[in-house]
Amino acid sequence: MRPEFVQQMITVTRDLAARPPDAGRGIRPAPAGPADPGTGARWCPASWQRLEGADVFAARDGTARALVIAGAGPAAARFPGEIVLSGKRPVKLAPFGPETCAALRDLFPWSAPGRLTPERPSFGCGDRLGAATPGHLRALRPYAATPVLAQQSVRELTLTGRAFREVVDAATWGVFQEGYQEGWGADGDHLKSAAEVRDMLAAGATFITLDLSLCLGRPEAAPALPAGLRAHAGRRWSARGIELAVADADIERFWQVYGSAFPFIEEAAAHCQSARGSDGCDLEVSVDETPETTRPVDHLLLALELRRRGIPVASVAPRFPGEFQKAIDYVGDLGQFERELARHAAIAREFGHKLGIHSGSDKFTAFPLIGRHGGDCLHVKTAGTSWLEALRVIAAADPALFRICWAQAAEGFPRAKQYYHIRTELPDVAGADAVEDSGLPALLDQDAPRQFLHITYGEILRAPASGGGTLGDRVQASLAAHEEEYAAALIAHFRHHAESLGLPAR
Ligand code: ZN
Repeated sequence: MRPEFVQQMITVTRDLAARPPDAGRGIRPAPAGPADPGTGARWCPASWQRLEGADVFAARDGTARALVIAGAGPAAARFPGEIVLSGKRPVKLAPFGPETCAALRDLFPWSAPGRLTPERPSFGCGDRLGAATPGHLRALRPYAATPVLAQQSVRELTLTGRAFREVVDAATWGVFQEGYQEGWGADGDHLKSAAEVRDMLAAGATFITLDLSLCLGRPEAAPALPAGLRAHAGRRWSARGIELAVADADIERFWQVYGSAFPFIEEAAAHCQSARGSDGCDLEVSVDETPETTRPVDHLLLALELRRRGIPVASVAPRFPGEFQKAIDYVGDLGQFERELARHAAIAREFGHKLGIHSGSDKFTAFPLIGRHGGDCLHVKTAGTSWLEALRVIAAADPALFRICWAQAAEGFPRAKQYYHIRTELPDVAGADAVEDSGLPALLDQDAPRQFLHITYGEILRAPASGGGTLGDRVQASLAAHEEEYAAALIAHFRHHAESLGLPAR
């Protein structure tokens, strides 16, 4: 940290010390701090808390972030870091990192992830850079929806070279920085083995998404068809204006496909129970990345069998008809989609779980239907579009860096395509070199460039940069210098989603 930055933070602590003892609570006007000591340096007034007589707030100097703690006492002692001013009211700078974030979660429990509120919709906001939480919170604050701020799949962690604990730490920091005290979740997304579930729980996940794609359709690995499930044959299920007939053949077929997944689901649920105990864990069962459309009767039988086995699930994510491709609008027949959606939503409501909508970004023609039928039982996940908004900011602020990222994406595209199903091909994005600097941000409004950049994040972020470090370091530095622009881009992007879905106002 530069000496002039440290001096400025000491000045802020003196200003705060003069304020009344209850000033560090609730909503308050932002105190006027001193001028920023250089590019990218600032303190975050919304983060200011007073604990056991100590003032605590978040600050940034370029890409370096630190917590400033002024005052003695047990709270101050809990943070690692360096004393930059000694005396009666010492000032400590605790650098952003695992120890500081763990102390934040202990001392300010709202900065730790927790369970979702079942009667509210929830919104998953993937953040591949660990820089999007302030924008996510500001975008969703007007709505009665719980944000899932830390949400990464094993695939994303591998491609970004991050650990889930870092993802949770980045979200904790953003939550503290914004002073947001209303609860958020941390989703270990698309987990395909019990070992992955165990690791994500140990790293702080409060929401576990099971991806059944590896264990479906292996009847040789399925337990015997339970008599309790067979008993539903010939019955009619009806609720909320929806009727489904359950034939014996439906049950046979369901068990052929899903029977082999139950040992995995049971083992994962046991891990959740032992890791989270009475705090509990939100468990989602997802089949959205399987080749076959999920029949409503399969959703029904899945819910019945989970209930029979006493496995509570927070959400079920079916594979809907049509295509939910990354970062572009819904592809398919909206009439057929709505008929199936209505059935899935009725089943979810009746069983008290959420309806998971994966790859949920940018489905603007389908959102009004999803909002109408799903309403308060929705869990909508978006993953990579916060990354696209970061690139939009960079395209405007640093066109040269954007062009380097683009070239790297083109180079790595064939590798990235092995991990994602998209319809964009390399020739679809030819010609970007001819676009003038002022036209670069608008590339992020076009389907092919969106998909192209959505899936190549790993290729871009891990590439070595000329002059040392990685391209990811340069992206981070650019975003740190344009933190407010990034938040503004995320607000525009996610408000458009929230309004199209008709999320209820807070
Ligand atoms: Zn998914």
